Amino acid sequence: MTKFDTSIRAPSQPSISDDTAAIAALHTAFARQKAAFLEDPQPDIAVRRSNLAAIIDMMIRYRQRIVDAMHADFGHHPAPETDLIEVLGMVGRAQHALDNLESWMAPQRRQGDPALFGDAAIEIRYQPKGVIGNISPWNFPFDLSVGPLIDILAAGNRAILKPSDYTPACADLLAEMIAETFEPDLVTVTVGGVDLAKAFSTLRWDHLLYTGSPAIGREIMIAAAHNLVPVTLELGGKCPAILTEGALDESAVESILATKLLKNGQMCISVDHVFVPRGEVGRFVELSRQWFARHVPDYSRGPDCTGIISDRHMDRIEAMLSEARSAGCDIIEVEEGGVSDRTTRRMPLVLVLDPGPDLRLMREEIFGPILPVIGYDDLDDAIADINAGERPLGIYVFGEAEIAETVLKCTVSGGAVVNSCAVHGAIPDLPFGGIGSSGMGRHHGLEGFREFSNPRGVVVRRTQDEFLTFCPPFAKAAALVENALR
Ligand code: NAD
Repeated sequence: MTKFDTSIRAPSQPSISDDTAAIAALHTAFARQKAAFLEDPQPDIAVRRSNLAAIIDMMIRYRQRIVDAMHADFGHHPAPETDLIEVLGMVGRAQHALDNLESWMAPQRRQGDPALFGDAAIEIRYQPKGVIGNISPWNFPFDLSVGPLIDILAAGNRAILKPSDYTPACADLLAEMIAETFEPDLVTVTVGGVDLAKAFSTLRWDHLLYTGSPAIGREIMIAAAHNLVPVTLELGGKCPAILTEGALDESAVESILATKLLKNGQMCISVDHVFVPRGEVGRFVELSRQWFARHVPDYSRGPDCTGIISDRHMDRIEAMLSEARSAGCDIIEVEEGGVSDRTTRRMPLVLVLDPGPDLRLMREEIFGPILPVIGYDDLDDAIADINAGERPLGIYVFGEAEIAETVLKCTVSGGAVVNSCAVHGAIPDLPFGGIGSSGMGRHHGLEGFREFSNPRGVVVRRTQDEFLTFCPPFAKAAALVENALR
């Protein structure tokens, strides 16, 4: 712990009284940030650049401890995966903001009819909103706390971060890193349990970002509505992949399986299930087996498999699978000799062929290493199936450009990828978010900057306008209307 550590934390064994202390500290920190914002409501570009540069330094400085904390919380977490997503991903995103900040902050000129507004200056100015709350989940503890923080600070705001209680090592480390890097009236971290989480969403934030399940997303939106707090909700759902006729080959299978293995399926934009032309399901299974044997023969026993976050989550995945087994589904173990290990919580990937729509794994987001393979007779049926469900965060289409475009046109999702999966989430210049039950609002890049800014419409009056025409006496207005509508 450094001398700067003024973060808000509950002791490591959360209880109701621990959260009570953390909630009181949260209120104090919130009031301080609000006051600090009023004193300095418009940090200039130099200040914002220095904050973004501080994030880059912080992520590099804490790289090894981030790797260790991820490993501790997940039971097993591949170090290169942590480095790539949680460390390098944040460095790249902050660098992208640094490179573009000047143009993002520039006022946008807008048009006004000179006959009415003369030579007034008319523009949008992107003003910081103020104090922003960020509630993040366990699956990407740094990417989803520090990532949006980049957009939040680029837009000139202050922030309080609330990481998940499922990742206590990462949460404590995040608190330490942030406390060492930023003054608490600019950024701080609050650590605690569910009571703290609930209290967090009731504050009068200038904007509240929540990433997590749609069920809690609803509660957050209700809590925020009481204070008319604007929300960004980054939620989950079932992201489908579709292999259109003729698209099945080794490369498509590789994209789908490799994406599913990233975090062992515990990723909001993972492939949840795949639609395959019915006559090709057998070949999909065969190619999957071959890919496993060639590329990841001992995946669940090797270093590249991410542990399931908790025993409870592992039980849930196993329960889904045993329900499918009891229902008589074909379950294919694509990894020869794959085993589940309760100590590191690593699990092998299995395919489930044509599970019925009533099974849990077709009703809930799977968030683990099970891949339902659904045979279809007609592409329209697969599209209808997608449209009958909630709008997904991502859709992944494999096939000829024209057919892929048809699928994109006939479906609605937060993002989409053609001939690969999930990569849209790795591009800092592309807005990221959902639609419907997969969320609302966007972060990453320009859209993230704007999400956390107030797009203030500003008119600076100069000369030769007809301002008085809008006000009584209306004789001039009446003549103007007559003239315009003649
Ligand atoms: P989680 O259990 O860690 O919860 C997320 C956050 O909500 C945590 O900080 C938790 O403390 C807080 N929380 C829990 N109950 C709360 C309450 N009543 N009020 C306020 N806050 C509360 O994570 P989870 O929900 O299991 O995360 C997995 C879900 O998140 C999946 O659905 C996944 O798809 C989704 N997700 C979405 C994105 C995205 O960018 N759209 C990214 C990652 C995960």
